[in-house]
Amino acid sequence: MSKTIAINAGSSSLKWQLYVMPEEIVIAQGIVERIGLNDSIFTIKHGEGQKFELVQDIDNHEIAINMLLEQLIELKIIGSYDEITGAGHRVVAGGEHFKESIVIDSEVLKTIEDLSDFAPLHNPAEAQVVRVFEKVLPHTLNVAVFDTSFHTTMPAVNYLYSIDTKYYEEFGARKYGAHGTSHRYVSERAIDMLGKPAEETKIITCHLGNGASITAVDGGKSVDTSMGFTPLAGVTMGTRSGDIDPSLLQYLMEKLELTDIKDMINILNKESGLLGLSGVSSDMRDLENSDKDSAKLALEIFADRVRKYIGSYISVMNGVDAIVFTAGIGENDINMRKEIINGISWFGCEIDDEKNNVRGEERVISTDDSKVKVLLIPTDEELMIARDVEALKK
Ligand code: ADP
Repeated sequence: MSKTIAINAGSSSLKWQLYVMPEEIVIAQGIVERIGLNDSIFTIKHGEGQKFELVQDIDNHEIAINMLLEQLIELKIIGSYDEITGAGHRVVAGGEHFKESIVIDSEVLKTIEDLSDFAPLHNPAEAQVVRVFEKVLPHTLNVAVFDTSFHTTMPAVNYLYSIDTKYYEEFGARKYGAHGTSHRYVSERAIDMLGKPAEETKIITCHLGNGASITAVDGGKSVDTSMGFTPLAGVTMGTRSGDIDPSLLQYLMEKLELTDIKDMINILNKESGLLGLSGVSSDMRDLENSDKDSAKLALEIFADRVRKYIGSYISVMNGVDAIVFTAGIGENDINMRKEIINGISWFGCEIDDEKNNVRGEERVISTDDSKVKVLLIPTDEELMIARDVEALKK
């Protein structure tokens, strides 16, 4: 049986899912956390609720992958390495170069490494993982699936910043967006649910997780998205600020006596967003359970920023048929979905409280006479990756 592994490697983590394809059955999944630190955590879930966990130092991604492959044999999840015929690697930055998923050869791998400036924490780790796969599984087809590909259909009017175009031409300074695989998956599902030809649909997809982004999908294609040159831009996120006046950086650096812009960016990436606003947590659940005013205000700001993007994307597309909620918050946070949609009732959206009273299930959650459909669609980036590998195997 042919198996495909979907890999999502970060600088210190490696998440994976193993599929039987083309049946699309998940037979095992796992995560290696704290790679390169002490007490790394290695977990595999398989079979019917079986779990394997090991805590030990795992120095690098190569060791992590070798451990993973050995355990797949040990736990009898696979009989031999040859069964893994495909590996799909999530790559954060594909720049303008990669408009779709692609089989990785030495030239593609070099381009992924060359794009490291755009995602310094991710692309080098992802390239390293591909190299390990080439070494330990030489017969496996490696495919790169880029976070940015879905957004390469954005028109210049939406991807250019209002700065001298020579910065775009010389250095690639433009909006690239992220979470593309998720926006692609949920928008395709939404088009199916709307039952209209893709060309006639206008959809706004809200991927609201720890990282959050909103995308305008017109005729099945991304035409604008809230993340920018990097995932720091857009709506308020767990620990990221989202949009901010760049002059504030200079002002704060002077006040904080910072000399390295990287320290300032680090504050915006790691200490801002819901965490910075509330002083409580970056996790929605903690904020909803807190009785602090700062937590309530953080929730209001989150809902406000999402609504503002929805409003602006209705203008970008001159209309909207459906608004989609997905990812951790979008799939599970009944109150937040209601908060967001109640604030844009003027556009003709109305939540059905009974239908909305659900977590992680694909369904319509607006009332029957709501002019704009509101859809809850659990995302599945790994499945999208496995499908892309399958399509490229042929
Ligand atoms: P990541 O970007 O890390 O993949 P997720 O998509 O897993 O993030 O989303 C994490 C967010 O989802 C957290 O803010 C978490 O609080 C929120 N979340 C998860 N479950 C619930 C729930 N039942 N109610 C509200 N928020 C939830």
